[in-house]
Amino acid sequence: MTDLLIGGRWTGAIDERTREIRCPADGSLVAVVDEGGGKDAAEAVAAARQAFDQGPWPRTPAGPRGDLLLRVADMVARDKDALARAESLDTGKRLAESRLDVDDAVACFRYYGRLVRTETGRVVDTGTAHAVSRVVHEPVGVCALITPWNCPLPQTSWKVAPALAAGNTFVLKPSELTPSTAIALMRLLVEAGLPDGVANLVLGPGPEAGAPLTDNPDVDMVSFTGGLRTGRRVMAAAAGTVKRTSLELSGKNPNVVFADADFDTAVDHALTAVFRHSGQVCSAGARLMVEGSVHDAFVEAVVHRARGIRLGGPFDERAQTGPLISAAHRARVEAYVAAGLAEGARLRCGGTCPDDPALADGYYFLPTVLDRCHSGMSVLADESFGPVLTVERFASEDEAVRLANDTVYGLAGAVWSGDEERARRVASRLRLGTVWINDYHPCLPQAEWGGFKQSGTGRELGPGGLAEYRETKHIWRNTRPRPRGWFA
Ligand code: NAD
Repeated sequence: MTDLLIGGRWTGAIDERTREIRCPADGSLVAVVDEGGGKDAAEAVAAARQAFDQGPWPRTPAGPRGDLLLRVADMVARDKDALARAESLDTGKRLAESRLDVDDAVACFRYYGRLVRTETGRVVDTGTAHAVSRVVHEPVGVCALITPWNCPLPQTSWKVAPALAAGNTFVLKPSELTPSTAIALMRLLVEAGLPDGVANLVLGPGPEAGAPLTDNPDVDMVSFTGGLRTGRRVMAAAAGTVKRTSLELSGKNPNVVFADADFDTAVDHALTAVFRHSGQVCSAGARLMVEGSVHDAFVEAVVHRARGIRLGGPFDERAQTGPLISAAHRARVEAYVAAGLAEGARLRCGGTCPDDPALADGYYFLPTVLDRCHSGMSVLADESFGPVLTVERFASEDEAVRLANDTVYGLAGAVWSGDEERARRVASRLRLGTVWINDYHPCLPQAEWGGFKQSGTGRELGPGGLAEYRETKHIWRNTRPRPRGWFA
């Protein structure tokens, strides 16, 4: 088996361990892949270090680096069907959504391929005729890129594209549950002509294959997307050698609906916000907040439509959403709902697995709505990362803002209102990295993505995404060197 890429060579794991990848929709076998550990991670870091210190990539001008990214974008577009299929088999996600995810990856490689050519350093006024001062960008060095399982190809692309654009070398460690498109993307990078050792791939569980990347002294930066608890561990491990860290972590995202919103549109989006990919989206609008005067009618409409959502596998064209990623994750979602009910939330729909025998082999969980939720409940404090919507009621704009901000998270959220001034006012008061007004979920390669507060420290996409992977250096050149004579 040869699923790890180390120093330009496809290889098996040193300990010869393997893992079966099974489709969460029906448990069918998708692939058997190599499963590496600490020794593989160390070899991959050594290869990336050597490629950074001695190889051509960090010294390649921005033009050819951008060209390579544009070639990769074309290849990802060329292989769209195969990549979307592989993503759906690993994640259980509907094929239509996986196809959108491939488009996202293409847009990301195109964006950074073009951006890096236009980004220049600057000349600074030194205030003297005898010196020239320039500020230039340089790569950070060896980057450890660690990604989760919910949108594997876009999340990998959001890291790989800017890291390469900036001239870094890297070791990628995708989620052990969904490695297929990471392997495929690495094959495309090789096909595109990336020099050996620039891109390295290690597969395996986080504690064994990921953790050794986060404290290895030869790694300069860790870019991590995943859960808050793991993020804290990664940050602590990276602190030992003061690595640069870019963390994209969990969210419990408020979707705030005022009484003057377009009722039907807001109901429709409230469903997509949380039930798309069965809630396994970091920006899922899992926290519905509705103004008192329309609360009951709004929640009734959401519950009515949530009951009708059709579940099914990735290739079932009638399915509107799919399974959870694993039995363990489904058990966590079940426990989350049980905790909410024990604390006084009311179950309006779902709350259990479907009884359709056709779904019995998958990790399905019914779209669930819990109302009568309020501050202090664990379901508001925690992210379920499943198809669970919690509902709160608010009475005023100030209360909506106060409640929405009363959380350790700050990733994303939305405001729904027919009053443009109010929508803007509330959007500016929400402590969130992304706020949608009268919409939910759109994301652009040219606009930054990242969390406030404990939702993360990093920025992905946009010029800020490139900045994460670059050092900025000031070079001062004395054009008329003379002795200073201070110590004469
Ligand atoms: P996770 O934290 O369990 O794992 C993420 C990655 O980290 C995986 O590759 C895993 O193997 C690895 N890992 C685990 N322990 C590690 C350790 N000690 N050291 C280094 N690496 C380790 O998260 P998950 O369950 O895969 O993903 C779901 C979480 O990701 C959710 O909380 C979600 O909100 C978050 N997420 C955030 C964003 C964002 O942009 N903010 C995007 C997608 C997902």
